[in-house]
Amino acid sequence: MGEFILARGNGRKIPQEDKIFGISSRAKAAIAEKGFDHVINGTIGSLLDDEGNLVVLESVDKVYRELKPVDYAEYAPIGGIATFRESVKKAAFGNHAPDGFMEAVATPGGTGSLRNVISNYSSAGDQVLTSDWHWAPYNTIAGEIGRSVATYELFTEGGTFNAEAFAAKSAELLAKQESLVVIINTPAHNPTGYSLTLEDWSKVVEILSEEAKSGKAIALLIDVAYIDFAGDEDEYREFFPLLSKLPENVISIVAYSLSKTFALYGARCGAMICVAKTQEIADEFKRVCEFSSRGSWSNSAKIAQVILSRIYSDPELLRMTNEERAGYRNMLIARGRAFSEAAAECGLEIVPFDAGFFVSVPCDDPDKYSKRLEKEDVFLVPLAKGIRVAVSSISEEKCRKLPPIIKAALDAE
Ligand code: PLP
Repeated sequence: MGEFILARGNGRKIPQEDKIFGISSRAKAAIAEKGFDHVINGTIGSLLDDEGNLVVLESVDKVYRELKPVDYAEYAPIGGIATFRESVKKAAFGNHAPDGFMEAVATPGGTGSLRNVISNYSSAGDQVLTSDWHWAPYNTIAGEIGRSVATYELFTEGGTFNAEAFAAKSAELLAKQESLVVIINTPAHNPTGYSLTLEDWSKVVEILSEEAKSGKAIALLIDVAYIDFAGDEDEYREFFPLLSKLPENVISIVAYSLSKTFALYGARCGAMICVAKTQEIADEFKRVCEFSSRGSWSNSAKIAQVILSRIYSDPELLRMTNEERAGYRNMLIARGRAFSEAAAECGLEIVPFDAGFFVSVPCDDPDKYSKRLEKEDVFLVPLAKGIRVAVSSISEEKCRKLPPIIKAALDAE
């Protein structure tokens, strides 16, 4: 029998079980059998407290509890409610909005934005460009709509952003395609925790401006899913104004998500926000993206759109939310620091890390090592080029303990 019974494969490789889901279930079983303190479950990409409970922002929860049925039961317009469209631009750009024509379209999380950008700014059969270390669902999202992912090496040997590789690969793709979608996930990249510096950003803008001389259409998708978990909100938004330097045939699109930033993972809310050189290009963005939304999930859920609108209409509430998030961000940053310091102490190599939910350890045969670590009651996610540790889901104490355990597993014959 083939891989499918009644379903059509359409060229896709669909595993029997989601890998991360399988590892998480084994981690949960180990915790049930041996106790929480004896197991390290570094698989979960949500922010958990030191006891393994989901972190929820109380100020957000308070708004949620005060909602009326009309706030969540009614359809939202396809592109989102008007107050959300305005608030989400402030949430994404903060004090660093670039110059340009902006439109925001509501989407179900950052995932929806990724899907709509790929479907509207690349052609069937095209390759979209991202780095070798990347969030695996980019492949699934592209594959579901008949595109695929091409990659460049994110880091030089010295561990800095590999602008040369980025330039070479984007030129190669633009030589054979009429348009190009480029996905950059920063700050606090998943899975490495790397954040592009201002210097890296200047190079990206320079390279894309050069490529754009071909006259072809380029969409620069900036996936900022983790933007409020890297460090100071202002500092990590300083790159946005650089986008204004891009020429007319490069549209920047920010994929913003409320999943992490407002701890509203299950509410499925985000937005795609364009920065365009002309009003016509921004209008076109809104028209094509709303059309795609209609043909995929239709309206996005209204509930979190209302929550964000309320928070941004009440300065005191906004202050409380930002303050609460900053507290959890500090907890997360301390965990990342504990892990990287302990890694340096025991000589465990990690991929260049700045901040965020994840740290990655490069290795050959990640599946072998992650299975070996499971025997030690350590559950991590094997990726193509290494093992991912979700510091978002383990305490600072466990973050400190983990590097020597990983090092021993990698060194054992
Ligand atoms: N981009 C990256 C890199 C992510 O890690 C995630 C979630 O894990 C997302 C985008 C989108 O998440 P959501 O659709 O929940 O907003």
